[in-house]
Amino acid sequence: MSTDTAPPTDDVAKVPGQPQEPGASPGRSDEKGSSDRSGYVQPVVDVAAITALLDGRYAEIRQTVRDQLVEHAQVLVDAEEMTRSDFRDRVRDVVVEMAATGQTGMGFPTEHGGGGDIGASLAAFETLALGDLSVLVKVGVQFGLFGGAVLQLGTQRHHDRYLADIVSGRLMGCFAMTETGHGSNVQALGTVATYDLATQEFVITSTRPDAWKDYIGNAAAHGEMAVVFAQLVVGGESKGVHALMVPIRVDGEPAPGVKIEDDGLKMGLNGVDNGRLWFDGVRVPREALLNRFADVTPEVLYTSDIDNANKRFFTMLGTLVQGRVCVGGAGINASKVAITIATKYALNRRQFEATSETEEELLLDYGLHQRRLFPLLARTYALHFAQEVVAGQVHDVFTGTLDPDADPDLARRELESRAAGTKALGTWHATRTIQECREACGGAGYLAENRFAALKADTDVFTTFEGDNHVLLQLVAKGLLTAYSSEFEDMDQFGMVLFVAGLAVETVIEKTNVHKLLERIKDVLPGGDDRWDQEAGLLDPDYQLAMYRFREEHTLAGVARRLKRGIDSGMNPGQVFSRVQDHVIAAARAHMERLVLEAFVEKTRAMPDGDDKVALNLLCDLHALSGIEADRAWYMEHGRLSSQRSKAISREIADLCRRIRPIAGDLVDALAVPEAMLRSPEMLGRV
Ligand SMILES: Cc1cc2nc3c(=O)[nH]c(=O)nc-3n(C[C@H](O)[C@H](O)[C@H](O)COP(=O)(O)OP(=O)(O)OC[C@H]3O[C@@H](n4cnc5c(N)ncnc54)[C@H](O)[C@@H]3O)c2cc1C
Repeated sequence: MSTDTAPPTDDVAKVPGQPQEPGASPGRSDEKGSSDRSGYVQPVVDVAAITALLDGRYAEIRQTVRDQLVEHAQVLVDAEEMTRSDFRDRVRDVVVEMAATGQTGMGFPTEHGGGGDIGASLAAFETLALGDLSVLVKVGVQFGLFGGAVLQLGTQRHHDRYLADIVSGRLMGCFAMTETGHGSNVQALGTVATYDLATQEFVITSTRPDAWKDYIGNAAAHGEMAVVFAQLVVGGESKGVHALMVPIRVDGEPAPGVKIEDDGLKMGLNGVDNGRLWFDGVRVPREALLNRFADVTPEVLYTSDIDNANKRFFTMLGTLVQGRVCVGGAGINASKVAITIATKYALNRRQFEATSETEEELLLDYGLHQRRLFPLLARTYALHFAQEVVAGQVHDVFTGTLDPDADPDLARRELESRAAGTKALGTWHATRTIQECREACGGAGYLAENRFAALKADTDVFTTFEGDNHVLLQLVAKGLLTAYSSEFEDMDQFGMVLFVAGLAVETVIEKTNVHKLLERIKDVLPGGDDRWDQEAGLLDPDYQLAMYRFREEHTLAGVARRLKRGIDSGMNPGQVFSRVQDHVIAAARAHMERLVLEAFVEKTRAMPDGDDKVALNLLCDLHALSGIEADRAWYMEHGRLSSQRSKAISREIADLCRRIRPIAGDLVDALAVPEAMLRSPEMLGRV
């Protein structure tokens, strides 16, 4: 519990969050359990209960990870004090020690030393983001990317041979996909694996100067094997990108035919040894091909159940979606650290005599400070719940626990889209939150010992790796515009443009269901079809959701119309897409924002009545209205927000911030960032 607030009153007759009878005792608005002049009663937050709600079904593994982070807290200091080379080794040692406890291998099958629980592995990973982020990313590379590729793309022979060593950290490896020349456009990779019929081996070669594998985690120092993505050439025919197990180091030295270069100093994450790999005729046996989706056999040469090369490629990538979900969750959890430090600092730091002549004002009592921090706190909660939804979908799709009526292929396509969008929103949120929180701590925020230096530097690249955010949002839009049709994976960008151009705009909207959702919501709001946006209460979640849905539907329809117009006027599909791209991104964002708000609303609606529900409703309202306020120009342009109502929203936001103020300390405590991860007691003591 934070110490800044008065103890709760025991006035049981008052209903928290509800206006009280006229004449109810006014009390101070910044005291918990007290009511203000409108009769609003401050909720009293049960920190442990909200933590339990946030931790959900994976509370135990999350707590195990927190305990381990505390045990290894020294690594936060080592990051600043050790040489780069020593720190890399230190990070590797911590990762291997953590592996011994089982938490990094939760997602692997039990017969190979794993925990057999994918949902738990996602929860464990994102919780690791409360600590040093080189440790997090090294775990991600080793167990998520390298181990995940062997598990998902390989078959029994690879699992039996490698998984136990990967899970224990005995075999360190890389996920070598990106090249200097191609990152987002993986299908254009220049590494080639040519099948040699005579020896039944693949010969791996970096065919062009830009075909170096680049930025590869574990490559510069610790990796012994790599899952290498290469164009497979069999019988003189290119079969598209496939993955192979390739030894890159033997006894600590580069394997024959492999050249390794260190990527050198990075903006952050310097405990991870990123490097370049170059292959010159490296031979691996036929069995090195990770052959879940395609195989090369002595009898039939190349065989695959998926005929279409594009579809095969996207099916392979789709199995690796967990990495994306992990990075999104890591961004959201890193934001928790930043918002916790900044809020706690603001609960101790005083500047200027504002309301008293004898005492300076606490930063958090300034309206501006509340306006800067609380919407970020609210969004952190919102994204946490949205992440919980996508993690649940991963668990269901990968463990076959989907609703029996659900179409598994559709569920997979929807998951890929949602994972891409949540990753983009979660990692951008981290970048924005960490910057704002750093500034909110003034000069103290700039000192490395107060964590923001590392948080900023280490999370920055989250917006780029596991898929650049703008590229990912285009994937989200593709799913929306094609309604996740089964042709989705066969389509490139041009195909998608032509597909949409061939549909009526109404069909696009109809298929995405947004229209139906909006219709349904209009039914429950006052004013019917015409005036729902003017008559509904600002704090009515149905109104808020309708506004988000309206924006989504309208933007999506606009994109579809512009694509059709472009094609109808005879323009090249690529050119049409390029011209509409900013609109495409806006539609994807609007869609994702709606899903995030829905996740938050559903979560709060499911809570039992009481103070905690009131408290989370304050955050949910703040999140929803902040999103409308941020985009008010758009809503006004589209006739959905009058200037009076727009001003009323800003007033409401200020009110919500005032109401959140007394419980802000508890709401950040509920995020359960271990104190050792804040590294701020001295900062707080000095203010
Ligand atoms: C620290 C770090 C660790 C990494 N670890 C690994 C690893 O272990 N293994 C691995 O395989 N890779 C790794 N990567 C690579 C990473 O996944 C890529 O950097 C990422 O996919 C982006 O590719 P790129 O750098 O080529 O950027 P590009 O694809 O060149 O993108 C550059 C910019 O162009 C924009 N852009 C690209 N295409 C389009 C388009 N169609 N329309 C509009 N804009 C577009 C993007 O939005 C972006 O802003 C790592 C990278 C870093 C920095």
